[in-house]
Amino acid sequence: MKPSVIVVGLGAMGSSTAAVLARRGCRVMGFERFWRAHDRGSSHGDTRAIRKAYVREAEYAPLVLEAYDLWRRLERDSGAELLVQIGGLVVAPTGGKTLARSVATAQAYGIDYELLDTNEVSRRWPTMHPPANCTTFYEPTQSIMPPEKTVATNIELAVRHGAELHFNTVVESWSSTSGGVQVRAGGKTYEADRLVLAGGAWSDDLLSDLDLPLEVNRLLQVWVKPTSQMKHFAVDRHPRWVLENAEGVSAYAFPVLQGQDAIKMAFTRGVPAEADNLQREATPDEVAALVDFMSDLVPSIRGQAPTRVSACLMMRTPDENFTIGEHPKFPNVIIGAGFSSHGFKFVPVIGEILADLAVDGATKRNIKLFDPRRYEKLSALQPG
Ligand SMILES: Cc1cc2nc3c(=O)[nH]c(=O)nc-3n(C[C@H](O)[C@H](O)[C@H](O)COP(=O)(O)OP(=O)(O)OC[C@H]3O[C@@H](n4cnc5c(N)ncnc54)[C@H](O)[C@@H]3O)c2cc1C
Repeated sequence: MKPSVIVVGLGAMGSSTAAVLARRGCRVMGFERFWRAHDRGSSHGDTRAIRKAYVREAEYAPLVLEAYDLWRRLERDSGAELLVQIGGLVVAPTGGKTLARSVATAQAYGIDYELLDTNEVSRRWPTMHPPANCTTFYEPTQSIMPPEKTVATNIELAVRHGAELHFNTVVESWSSTSGGVQVRAGGKTYEADRLVLAGGAWSDDLLSDLDLPLEVNRLLQVWVKPTSQMKHFAVDRHPRWVLENAEGVSAYAFPVLQGQDAIKMAFTRGVPAEADNLQREATPDEVAALVDFMSDLVPSIRGQAPTRVSACLMMRTPDENFTIGEHPKFPNVIIGAGFSSHGFKFVPVIGEILADLAVDGATKRNIKLFDPRRYEKLSALQPG
């Protein structure tokens, strides 16, 4: 018989896991402290990106390729359009590590790419004037996904397959018992065979017994209306882009979505924050820093005020690699945390992995890099 599973946190990873588990025939209960597809965690702001030429550890490359297939499968299962191929540019210092790694991954996995000089970039996309010291890596298969719609879609799928989901219900505590797991939520106790903890920026509270080196960060998303060339910024003709400077600072932007009139931008790095005390407004200085930075590539936004801002939480690990695996003390508790600033593209794969671990205790994917035991403080612990 399939195990029953409680999923804590129905954001990006938890909703995906609940949908996969329910589809596989498990009895699933899910708990979410906020409402469906809310804007209080890490999964809001209209757009997230996926690219094949990943510039991180080699273990991510097969996962990202599988993710492309699983996004399409999620679309087929749900009938929702989620993955839209728009292409992507990385504008970075010529001869630098970022370009070298992008090219190396593209060559290793047969991914289409082009290296473009400044004139060619401006010829194809008249909105952009890359700095003279930069080369542009163009990846046509880069795509975007809508985070809120993705979460809502997975919640709908989970419910359609029989999951019992509780919103506006905080999980106050959990325990592993001899027969399974117990969860206290909304003043009641719930029981199941297995527990999946996918609490995003609140993972530290859920895993306080482990003292994991997780750090909550704030990332600010800023929408700005270009002063000219609006039609050239439209999502059906403009790729997403990343700009990196010689100091390694980088920011990215998305073109203007249908029905909108602004590009969305953010710095890649966040600043430390508290999940329950997030500064939602933007200061004029932080907006100006971002607009100035991106204006070096896109002159038509220089000096523009934001039309909208949205702060996002992000749970960072010291090495920015995810934390996925069995709880070091309780094998019937599965951790999915620390997705840092690059987890969203893997949503359908992470759902499969967390479901595999909950049902079978193992997955066919190579997830050694994400082992919760890799942190020094945990290495002495033995499974209990
Ligand atoms: C601005 C920004 C841009 C990003 N861009 C990209 C990108 O382009 N590509 C990419 O791949 N990744 C990107 N990321 C990263 C990606 O969005 C995150 O890795 C991903 O959304 C994390 O999902 P999650 O499920 O861990 O967190 P969340 O989606 O926040 O889900 C966690 C959920 O747990 C709930 N919860 C927590 N504690 C409890 C409790 N005790 N009881 C009940 N519920 C609880 C929370 O309310 C929340 O809904 C970006 C992140 C940010 C912030």
